[in-house]
This record gives sequence, C-alpha cells and structure tokens, in this order.
Amino acid sequence: MTSPGFLRRRRTIVAVGTAVLVLAVSASAFLVGRATAPGDDPAHPAAAGEPVTYPKDGFFRSYPLLAETIVEMPSPAVDRAAKDGAVVLVPLDPIEEHGPHLGLGPDIYLSAFVARVARAELAGRGTRAVIAPPIYWAVNKETLAWAGSFAVRASTMEALLSDVVGSMGDWGFRRFYVVSSHGDPEHVEKLAAAMKAVAKEHHVSVLQAEVTGELSVPWPGVSSDVHAGAAETSMMAALYPGQVDEATARSLEAQSTFVPLGYYGNPAGFDPQGFEPYLRAVGEGLADMIAADVAGNSTS
Ligand SMILES: [Zn+2]
Repeated sequence: MTSPGFLRRRRTIVAVGTAVLVLAVSASAFLVGRATAPGDDPAHPAAAGEPVTYPKDGFFRSYPLLAETIVEMPSPAVDRAAKDGAVVLVPLDPIEEHGPHLGLGPDIYLSAFVARVARAELAGRGTRAVIAPPIYWAVNKETLAWAGSFAVRASTMEALLSDVVGSMGDWGFRRFYVVSSHGDPEHVEKLAAAMKAVAKEHHVSVLQAEVTGELSVPWPGVSSDVHAGAAETSMMAALYPGQVDEATARSLEAQSTFVPLGYYGNPAGFDPQGFEPYLRAVGEGLADMIAADVAGNSTS
C-alpha cells in the first residue's frame, strides 16, 4: 500500500531523544537522479531491446534491493562513513499482496528507490548518506485476507529496527531516517512508536517527516487511489516495469474498496510518464528536508 493519502499526510518533524531520524517518505522521489533504474541494468531484457512480457514463467522480474546499500561496501568504507558523520537511510516496508497485476514488493522496492535517490541528491549538496539493508518485515493489517500479505508483529518490526539501528549506532552512526511508503494506519502508528522507542534505547535521534504537503506539484493520481491503483501501478511501471502485468492492469475495473481483488483504486489508469515531475519534486524535497535537519542539528 503506497497511497496518495499517505503521500498527502503532513507530518511534523519530531526529534526524539538525540539521534534516530525516521523519514516516512512518499513513495515517489524515484525518478530523481539516476539511482539504479531498470534501464541502467545491462542484464535487463528491456535494455537490450528485447520485448519481454511479465510475469514470465509465473514470475515477475526481480530487481536488486541491496543495490547501493552498505551491503555492497567493504567494512573499512562503512567505518569511514560512520566516522565522517554520514546519515543513514533505512528503507522499511512490508511485503503484501498488490492485486492481480503487481508482485508483493512494491512498497519496499519503491522505498529502496527513494533512498537511493535521496542519497544521490544529498551527496550533491554535500551531505553524506548511506543506505542500510532494507527491512521488509513491517506491520500490515488492511490486506491480510489475501495470500502474500505477511502478518508481522509490531514487536518484530521494532526488534529488527532496534537491532539495525543499534548495530550501526555501535559503529558510530548517529542519525537515522526510516524511509517508509506503506500507508496502512496500523503500520504508521506502530512504526512511529517503534522509532521513538529505538531512539531512546540507543541514544540516537528519530525524525518522522513528510515532504509532500510542502510540494507545489499536485498529485497526479485519482482521489480514491489507495492501494495498487493508478498511482502505485504507475510508479512501479516507471521504475520496475518487469514487476507489472500491464495487460492485467489495463483489464481491471476500478474498486473503491479493497475487495474483492485486493486493490483500491484504478489500476487500469496507470501512466508512468505522468508521474515524473511529481517524483522529481518529491525527491528534491526529501533531500532538502534531510539536509536542513542535519544543518539544524549541527548548529544547535
Ligand atoms: Zn503498496
């Protein structure tokens, strides 16, 4: 669930304790910069001009979630980043069903992309950021009736966040931004509580922030587009085209509730192109917010 409602929600930046920054980011910063995108991958059939329809043999095309994370760095480089005061971006979203036309991973795929964009944008502004390995175990309630939606306890999510932040805190990182695009109210509430607890436990600071409310670019989706509808399908088609069954998406009737097919909105109305200006603006807004937060904290 990566919903416009989530994107529109405006959140006050709250600094808790001293240092874990959590960033509830809209799922849309994605096209900014040239963070890893499907077309850049020479192994991707589309890059070779080969027409491929997904799913193929029952599977969507897979994309690397660990790209540009610290998992791809040698230990001394991670150590150096901590010593240099790099901020940490932590993608955190659940795996859940997204209708008959998408795979189970849009939320974490989109947040991982946002993190990559934010990292690149921040680097251009002189603020160093690293990306933690994405946490794809998070709270979900609205779509549990469908196969593919994991029922993860809030305590599990908090424990994972605590261990990730605690480990990186031990290495010297002090400021964490959780990048989460999942709009389930239960997730939003439990994540906020988890961030607060983790900040206190590890003596770091937590920020929950939203950039969309400050954007002048209007959300191009439809008003009742909540889950796996035009917006989310557009974003996935733009960034991870092998994760979208386009023919099925175009054939779906709009639903203004989750039942019966597990999406809420109008998947058939997806349009990857229409989202680009919005996505760019969100990405830049996110980098602005983090940079300002870092500057504010370093001068106070
Ligand atoms: Zn989603």
